[in-house]
Amino acid sequence: MSSLLVDNIGELVTNVPGTGEGGPLGIRRRAALLVEEGEVVWVGPAADAPAADRRIDADGAAVLPGFVDSHAHLVFAGDRAAEFAARMAGQPYTGGGIRTTVGATRAASDEELRATVRRLRVEALRQGTTTIEIKSGYGLTVADEARSLRIAAEVSEETTFLGAHVVPAEYADRPDDYVSLVCGPMLAAAAPHARWIDVFCERGAFDADHARAILACGQAVGLGVRVHANQLGPGPGVRLGVELGAASVDHCTHLTDADIDALASTVVDAPSGPQTSTVATLLPGAEFSTRSPYPDARRLLDAGVTVALATDCNPGSSYTSSMPFCVALAVREMRMTPAEAVWAATAGGARALRRTDIGVLRPGARADLVILDAPSHLHLAYRPGVPLIRQVLQNGVPR
Ligand SMILES: [Zn+2]
Repeated sequence: MSSLLVDNIGELVTNVPGTGEGGPLGIRRRAALLVEEGEVVWVGPAADAPAADRRIDADGAAVLPGFVDSHAHLVFAGDRAAEFAARMAGQPYTGGGIRTTVGATRAASDEELRATVRRLRVEALRQGTTTIEIKSGYGLTVADEARSLRIAAEVSEETTFLGAHVVPAEYADRPDDYVSLVCGPMLAAAAPHARWIDVFCERGAFDADHARAILACGQAVGLGVRVHANQLGPGPGVRLGVELGAASVDHCTHLTDADIDALASTVVDAPSGPQTSTVATLLPGAEFSTRSPYPDARRLLDAGVTVALATDCNPGSSYTSSMPFCVALAVREMRMTPAEAVWAATAGGARALRRTDIGVLRPGARADLVILDAPSHLHLAYRPGVPLIRQVLQNGVPR
């Protein structure tokens, strides 16, 4: 059994509260960490570091858990750069461009889709993302949704069936029939390759009744629930997610007091302190790229709602795979503290995926970690746009 010591860590963010300074970040100074068989097996002072077969010298830098990007759409073809340019020139975002990507995705070969997914997966890894959730949703036929998830599952264990992204053009005047297709043959073909089901619950996409029906069908075959909710305007998505016990409601840009109360009511005790079992996942890359008002993160945090940050990487409304960029946006634009943002991008993402083995660095956790080219996690927001990821370990393997 080969062991690897990450030694001479200046600031180790463990996300284990009570083991150091920094509240929930559980920061240890002058630390070391031992990895065996892809798992963290020891964390402690560098002065007490055990012997190991191999050693990485962090040279006083900060080390944190790998980013957990719990919301991404990587299976698509084509891009929408022209739509982005038009939007920056003043056209509003409506979500209608999704159908443009659906057409391109249906026309693409498996190899083209696979190449895009792999390219983006590597791009995210280089920026410190060790876990990424990947949704279908640009196929919207039985065969195209199933192949999207099959290809996604080649690079991630966190795959989500999003057949209910929009109603495709051929069903525009009979949405009930499309919901039946999603709940029937499409779900049957998708479920073997998916862990989660998701619905875009929004005006112009799926209303509460349709969204509830689709999510319930997914639950009945063992899929966990997540919801695209309250992105473009107020709506029923957040409360529907809470009603169905969703792991996460995502976007949360337009929330009422009732929505916040519903989320706060899902509070449970966790080893790391009270958390909400339904996480609010904020996707500030979408607001950045659509020039829209940002979600009110402070209101959620002050109400005790657990918040995650994710990229929403997709070719239309947020074509970034960069979690450090989202951390910087969260701090600058949503008034999260750097500590809150880093926690939300690591432990928060893990909560949104109901995972306890990632987003944390303690014995027994997966050895997914990032060594920064910086002495502190603060630099992720303090030095926006700078490539600060020096090295990534995924399952204990340097990448
Ligand atoms: Zn999305």
